[in-house]
Amino acid sequence: MNFADKTIGVLALQGDYSLHERQIIALGAKVRQVRLPRDLEGIDALIMPGGESTTMDILIDRFGLREPLATFGAIKPIYGTCAGMILLARNIERNQAGVKTLGLIDIDVARNDYGRQIYSFEEEIEADFHGEKKRFLGGFIRAPRVTRVGPAVTVLARFQDWPVLVEQNKILAATFHSELESDTTLLEYFFVHFLLDRADTKRILDG
Ligand code: GLN
Repeated sequence: MNFADKTIGVLALQGDYSLHERQIIALGAKVRQVRLPRDLEGIDALIMPGGESTTMDILIDRFGLREPLATFGAIKPIYGTCAGMILLARNIERNQAGVKTLGLIDIDVARNDYGRQIYSFEEEIEADFHGEKKRFLGGFIRAPRVTRVGPAVTVLARFQDWPVLVEQNKILAATFHSELESDTTLLEYFFVHFLLDRADTKRILDG
């Protein structure tokens, strides 16, 4: 598959965005670090990385990104992992830190609900990509738990019965990190299903 004509932004305010950059490059697309509203211009999709949602929340306002991110997410694909998922959600349960979310996907989350940093773990995730089953590793690092899923949201994977990978329209969100290893299975799903227009998809399917 050829993604050479696609430019993927990574929200580069805080967190492990460089690991996402590595995976984007491995799939042959171009990368742009997004720190200012103008960085969103002309990119095909955005990745919001894991890290610390409280810090990202503050920096989003400081860099004037809140409105531009909301507008971008209404029309272009965004994939958020972990802290990125928290910021994309509708609501945060027991939101003591007062993190403001973008509300781009109709889920509620509870921050840090899989345990503290020392209880981080890696698990094999089995996702159902609309009939196609794929396995890959997910890293749970102070991961958010998805506590509510709205009617328009599709659950692509569960772990111990809890949703861990969800999508709605152009938004994909994972409780876990998919970018820690070199396996690009999930990013490839995002590219093929969220990025390509129908003509591109037909070309790929037709070989
Ligand atoms: N616990 C972090 C938060 O609430 C998320 C952790 C992560 O992104 N790995 O923002």
